[in-house]
Amino acid sequence: MATRKGAIGDDSIIRVPVGGEHDGTDCLAAAEDAAETVDVVAVGSTGVDALAPLVLATHDGATAFLFNCTAERTRAALEALEGGSLPDAAATVEHDPGTTDLPTPPKTNGSAALGVGSRRVLAGCGWRAPTSVADYRAARDGDLVVESAAPDPDATRERIGDAALRGRGRGDGSTDAPISAAWTTASETDGEPVVVVNGNEADDHARADRLLLESAPLAVLDSALATAHAIDATDVVVYVNDAETLARRRAQEAADALADDRDLDVSIGVVAGPDAYTAGEMTMALEALEGNDRLEARRRPPGPAQYGLHGRPTVIHTPRTFAQIEQVLGDENLGGVPRDPGTRLFTVAGDVDAPATIELPTDATLDDARGAVALDGGFKTACVGGRFGGLARDLDVPASAPGLRGARLGTNGVIELFGESTCSVALAGRRAKLAREENCGRCVPCREGSKQLVDLLRDVYDGEYQAGMLRELARTMRETSTCEFGEEASRPVTTAMEAFEPEFRAHADGRCPSGTCDGLST
Ligand code: SF4
Repeated sequence: MATRKGAIGDDSIIRVPVGGEHDGTDCLAAAEDAAETVDVVAVGSTGVDALAPLVLATHDGATAFLFNCTAERTRAALEALEGGSLPDAAATVEHDPGTTDLPTPPKTNGSAALGVGSRRVLAGCGWRAPTSVADYRAARDGDLVVESAAPDPDATRERIGDAALRGRGRGDGSTDAPISAAWTTASETDGEPVVVVNGNEADDHARADRLLLESAPLAVLDSALATAHAIDATDVVVYVNDAETLARRRAQEAADALADDRDLDVSIGVVAGPDAYTAGEMTMALEALEGNDRLEARRRPPGPAQYGLHGRPTVIHTPRTFAQIEQVLGDENLGGVPRDPGTRLFTVAGDVDAPATIELPTDATLDDARGAVALDGGFKTACVGGRFGGLARDLDVPASAPGLRGARLGTNGVIELFGESTCSVALAGRRAKLAREENCGRCVPCREGSKQLVDLLRDVYDGEYQAGMLRELARTMRETSTCEFGEEASRPVTTAMEAFEPEFRAHADGRCPSGTCDGLST
């Protein structure tokens, strides 16, 4: 499916977001079959599953949003546009005819998630053709990031340093830390530097990197090219989960489109990685890229900036970080809090009608995320930060890295909401089992510690709640494991104990207050 045709302009157009969980392919085919004079363009997902399949019909500076659309309704919408009018729709938004950003309908029109937080790095998702350089240039008033940054690498590094931008996501080489340190180290280390885009999240709930690669791959690659110039690297490697075929295809098409648009003096390669959670960890990503079948985390130091891909100085960032780099080098005012400027992407999932990926400024609180989804029943708790995130009873927590860490939550951009029937002990147990089953086996604290964690939780069901031992085991895992996997694996358990201590004691007494654990009374 070609997506390089542009979507920006003032003509009548039908946009069909393709990507995410519901791909809109039927609607796209119906529109393409029926179109005579109206343009039909496949764009990327908005990140909001509840609206899909979504069709956007634009005419004369107004866009009709057709939520949960069918092929039949798409044909009717096309007919209306061909006749010079907008179709009836749940929401219609007036806007500048040439706008490059998705116009957001009012929250009252069943599209709440599109109006939550801000849409800055997500501005083009669902609106611009993902691999159209013309659309991307239009959004940037003409220049690519790399065009303005390449002539002066020192100034590029300085701007990144001045911005105090921090890395985003567990697979980043500078997770939650200022990225400028890694750039400086890589550029000052002997060898041929390389830039890696780590897009392999391998986590059903963490979908922000996939969304960016599917819907805004040009921003990611353009920033990666600018980074390459800043550290004097000659190649960029984009690493994507083998199972995410659309993300890989769009990354490759975006690389091809950039190469067609201008002479690139930095090569871009797109490489598939294993569909395994550990394969997203930054050093295991490097091992996978080197072709190793058995993935184990590397001991650090030295970190990737000194000894990375094939021993080369390597700057490795997630697509989320590159999207923020585009904002910095595009002279955007990042906003947010000074210690963690910019925005952060969160996928809101769990006991909800459909997941949504939203963007929150770092000076917002996670509470805002509740408005993006419909929770099934009353709210009991949230697991924040991914598989090994922390449990929280309320979400009045800053969306910044320091704020999340201060609340003992994870920063990997996932907020799982759980309803009142959720048992916190069982939830903690499921995450402990994941840690036991999916660790790479290299280091004892994580490999053996995760087994003991499961055993100690099983003891709770057998009548023995050893809180002190659980806490001491968690501390050992956190402080002595080789990589983030082991450092974070016990977090769901310790935060569940903190927030729901009476439930642990009740289970030891043979009761499950939620009434969901087999063999226990309520
Ligand atoms: S912490 Fe876990 S995943 Fe990381 S190296 Fe040790 S065993 Fe492997």
